[in-house]
Amino acid sequence: MNGNLYSLLSSGFPADRQSLSIEAHDGVNFTWQDVDAMTARIANLLAALDLPKGARVAAQVEKSPEALMLYLATLRAGYVYLPLNTAYQSSEVDYFLGDAEPSVVVCSSKNLAWVGAAAAKAGTGHVFTLDDDHTGSLLDAAQTHADSFDTVAVTDDDLAAILYTSGTTGRSKGAMLTHDNLASNAKVLHEFWGWRSDDVLLHMLPIFHVHGLFVAAHGALLAGAKMIWLPKLDVARTLRELPRCTVMMGVPTYYVRLLDEPGFNREVCRNMRLFVSGSAPLLMETFNDFRERSGHTILERYGMSETAMLVSNPYDASLGERIGGTVGMPLPGVSVRVVNDADQECAAGEIGNIQVKGPNVFKGYWRMPEKTAQEFTADGWFKTGDVGRWGGDGAGAVVPDNYLAIVGRSKDLIISGGFNVYPKEIETLIDDMPGVLESAVIGVPHKDFGEAVVAVVVAKPGADLVEADMLAVLKTRIANFKVPKRLHVVKELPRNTMGKVQKNVLRDTYGL
Ligand code: ATP
Ligand code: MG
Repeated sequence: MNGNLYSLLSSGFPADRQSLSIEAHDGVNFTWQDVDAMTARIANLLAALDLPKGARVAAQVEKSPEALMLYLATLRAGYVYLPLNTAYQSSEVDYFLGDAEPSVVVCSSKNLAWVGAAAAKAGTGHVFTLDDDHTGSLLDAAQTHADSFDTVAVTDDDLAAILYTSGTTGRSKGAMLTHDNLASNAKVLHEFWGWRSDDVLLHMLPIFHVHGLFVAAHGALLAGAKMIWLPKLDVARTLRELPRCTVMMGVPTYYVRLLDEPGFNREVCRNMRLFVSGSAPLLMETFNDFRERSGHTILERYGMSETAMLVSNPYDASLGERIGGTVGMPLPGVSVRVVNDADQECAAGEIGNIQVKGPNVFKGYWRMPEKTAQEFTADGWFKTGDVGRWGGDGAGAVVPDNYLAIVGRSKDLIISGGFNVYPKEIETLIDDMPGVLESAVIGVPHKDFGEAVVAVVVAKPGADLVEADMLAVLKTRIANFKVPKRLHVVKELPRNTMGKVQKNVLRDTYGL
């Protein structure tokens, strides 16, 4: 077997190639034979374009089984896949294509005019379309090629994908991931989460992001397990599909939405073995309510574009319980440490910067050598930009020291009057107050304190929250410098497509 990630993934395909790999939402099915044949045709098409080694194949397309085939075909052909968020508009696509200079661009036919113009500006030689109704010039062109292909041998170090980060804290950066980065993570998760060939994955996540493309799709492919493929979260459809599924992955908002649905119950989850949450923090309330309603304990895990998955709550009960408010323990082969600003390890319970080392850690940011150098320590640890602690108190119970809790992002840390304020501490207090659904605490510029604490709060349906009353309660609970100067009650928090609260948007809106 060569180091190509596709070779690893396809080693898990079942012997019965006529069984189903993908059932799409519109009734179109793909057998394992179809996956092999379609990825071969597209790989042959790419190979015939005679692209240089390391050429990028960029795709900004709606989710479809064929979009996954394009990804797999790019791996097979030995090129570098570069998926783009479908929400990006013209100026954003201009930036990404200008930055990545892909040799091939694939877009939705409705966007062909403006994406084509951006591609031309970026010097891209080949533009194809691919739509979510199983059509497009990419498929037409691929159809003329043979349905078998010898997967190109790569070295472990060759790039498989460039994944632009979600841009939650600033401009997105292109994380360069090698075949080995992704293969090592796929193998570890296969074991750690107990993937089985008779699993059925409910796949509703976007596939331009690490969660849907790598964690979910790699998991099912490597296990030879079937995927029920929905373009996005559709709660009514989920209730219909769940009874025949065994695994579901979602961002926290998916779980909140399921709980909003009265028909969501144990019966619907009767065949499920695993619900995974990640990409953003899962509220304790969601974790608890979900357990009560479904009888299942959500497994929360932690990862990022630059590293794929790092830390996970256990699947196997012999390793420990799944503990709400934590992301679990480092995955086998992945080293994680929590350090102070001098890069010295923190004691359990102390808050510090999360750093990571392992075969899953990316090669660097695309065309940003200085940024890359800054984000690694001299001895090779990647600085995740997240802040957390080992063990400590979690929701009243003592958390074992090998469990990691994420407190927030270092960029969201507030320094008010010279004191560090961790937003999560105040958010947890606010979330526990009656009538509160959720909250976000931010730092905004302040002429005396440098930064001042501001809270943005969402009320539960029917609850009436009064700023002055809430601030009065907080004053009795925490030091004065942590008490928000203002507490705004809003309808909902701004979130990006991955369910991440956009604190930068809040900082712009709620300055003092
Ligand atoms: P950018 O780096 O461009 O600011 P981003 O960090 O949001 O954006 P991603 O790589 O998509 O881009 O997201 C990784 C981040 O998501 C992690 O660094 C972490 O902050 C957050 N995250 C992932 N899983 C969890 C989790 N279970 N709990 C809390 N945060 C999580
Ligand atoms: Mg990030």
